[in-house]
Amino acid sequence: MPTYGYRCPAGDTFDLVRPMAEAGEPARCPDCGEPARRVFGGPALRSLDPAVRRALDAGARSADSPDVVTSLPGRSRRATPVTKDPRHARLPRP
Ligand SMILES: [Zn+2]
Repeated sequence: MPTYGYRCPAGDTFDLVRPMAEAGEPARCPDCGEPARRVFGGPALRSLDPAVRRALDAGARSADSPDVVTSLPGRSRRATPVTKDPRHARLPRP
């Protein structure tokens, strides 16, 4: 069953796991007992793979404050290996 967020008139927020058919119905606040209305929030990102969550967080952070670098990145590309096999010389060339 999905989790829905609710907010009571006093401003308390809480989550309830309930059937989709009951999502729009008011829920009782566990703190004050007043009927609470459903509020809509972001998706449940807790279930994401931690690596995906780190990448999303880094992307969101870089939108406002990009990382400051003090030096150029090193060479990331390895040198092309040169073969010594004579059969490779007969292969077609582009
Ligand atoms: Zn309340």
